[in-house]
Amino acid sequence: MTRRVFLAAVAVVTAAVVRTPAQRFPPGYVDPAPVLAAAAAEIGESTLRCVTFSGTGYGGAVGQTVENAVNIDWPRIDRLANYTRAIDWGTETSVETFDREPGLNPAAWKYGTGWTGGTPIQKVRRQTHIVRGDKAWHMDGDGPPVAVPPDLAELYRLDLWLNPHGFLKAARLPGANPIAFWRWEQIEKGRDGNVVAPERVHVVAITVFGKYRVDATINSRHQIQRLKTTISQPALGDFNIEHESTNQIDIGGAKWPTDWHSHHGWDDNWQFYRQSTGHNGYGGQFRDVTANACPAAPTVPPAVANATFPATSPVTVDRLAEGVYRLGGGPANSYLVEFDRFVAVFEAPGDEARSLAVIEEVARLAPGKPIRWLISSHPHFDHIGGLRTYLHIGATIVAHSSNIPFLNKDVLNYEPRTMAPDIMSRWPPTEVAEGYNYEAVQENYVITDNRRILRVYYVQPLQHVAGMLMAYLPAERIAFEADLFDTHEPPRPAQLPAMRSLRTQVERMGLPVDTLAPVHGAPVPWSAFLAATKALDARK
Ligand SMILES: [Zn+2]
Ligand SMILES: [Zn+2]
Repeated sequence: MTRRVFLAAVAVVTAAVVRTPAQRFPPGYVDPAPVLAAAAAEIGESTLRCVTFSGTGYGGAVGQTVENAVNIDWPRIDRLANYTRAIDWGTETSVETFDREPGLNPAAWKYGTGWTGGTPIQKVRRQTHIVRGDKAWHMDGDGPPVAVPPDLAELYRLDLWLNPHGFLKAARLPGANPIAFWRWEQIEKGRDGNVVAPERVHVVAITVFGKYRVDATINSRHQIQRLKTTISQPALGDFNIEHESTNQIDIGGAKWPTDWHSHHGWDDNWQFYRQSTGHNGYGGQFRDVTANACPAAPTVPPAVANATFPATSPVTVDRLAEGVYRLGGGPANSYLVEFDRFVAVFEAPGDEARSLAVIEEVARLAPGKPIRWLISSHPHFDHIGGLRTYLHIGATIVAHSSNIPFLNKDVLNYEPRTMAPDIMSRWPPTEVAEGYNYEAVQENYVITDNRRILRVYYVQPLQHVAGMLMAYLPAERIAFEADLFDTHEPPRPAQLPAMRSLRTQVERMGLPVDTLAPVHGAPVPWSAFLAATKALDARK
């Protein structure tokens, strides 16, 4: 066949496909076009270019639970008071402002995912978080704009489309490829949304940024009542985000829901293979709504446009004693303790990329010695994103017994990760299935080669989190801890209860400590910690 004849044949076939009057769909699937058109007509989607809504919201800190990261809501550290958000889909802009108590949250954190300890703490009440296309930044009061890392900026940008009007607009973007199917949604157990009786609903699934699958549940009144997507979260892998909206009101010809809540994690307490489910990460009543009165889209500040984020920040090495090193350089440290024929590492913060970089450094500092033990202080997500990497490299995970079920089911598993496959999910070692990769600590635990001793203690009384472990080198008088005393910023009153629990533990065990080695910040003399505790105590 000549090339010209071949192209002509292709043209005929293409024309035939285009002219087919009714596209056929496999059983269970339906044409998404009329479903989307009816939903758009119902809420006046074509009339709404932008929306501004205000009220009082709340933000849940994903991965920061106090009680073993199980079935309770993500902690709401404070309200999002005087909350206003303006969304303009044409310019891909979102501007959120709210008031929140200073000193309690990382300044960079908005709500939901993205909580990172060891980063600057919010100093001022008024907070601003802006998304403009693929750039995002935040401002602490009138402080300078600070760029949000690309991974998180992408999630913030994705969120622009996770509302009824945004979804319908996104469904028309190139590459959205809508797929529709139908199902019966029942009403048992107080399901979320507008369903009042068993109802035949449609689900339309689209693709956003060529990467995220977003689906909308559309009820028989053509209202979008739920939007769902899957993101990647380093500790848990594929992670469910689900916005529920109710109470649609009329805003100049369009309809907009005023009441929101958002599940970060599966909204299900019956996922028996999971411990951590069903937490609210964002929500509120935003009943003051204005249509099409959005401010001009903010220009991306040069500091944000030019910000660079290396895939992994370089690992810095500080020697604390013979064979004892701080592996720093990110917002959180790991510590290496070298023994005769193996090494132990305290803490696996960040993600796989960070942990692989740290492991390379461990292999350079202690050549030929396996990482026999990884001590995990506590299962807050910013502290366990690398646990899978250490397990994969052959380490046994030392954790408090109360956290083993969560780590075993949710974190150190061999489930596929579809959004960001890691080494563990791609090539799970046989140990993962066989279960001899944990040491569950009750009160204390000792790692030794009969020359050097590293002790691991359960920290009581409970503060910050259940099942908190610290480690201690009696010969070198070094204590390792996480989140009980951070030194990357001046001591804060909010940390005082955790500081007291560390002091109580050390005094109860009668441990002489010279150096306190924190996961966030640089090591300090124990005397500096005692002085900081005393100073904060005096202020109370
Ligand atoms: Zn932390
Ligand atoms: Zn923590």
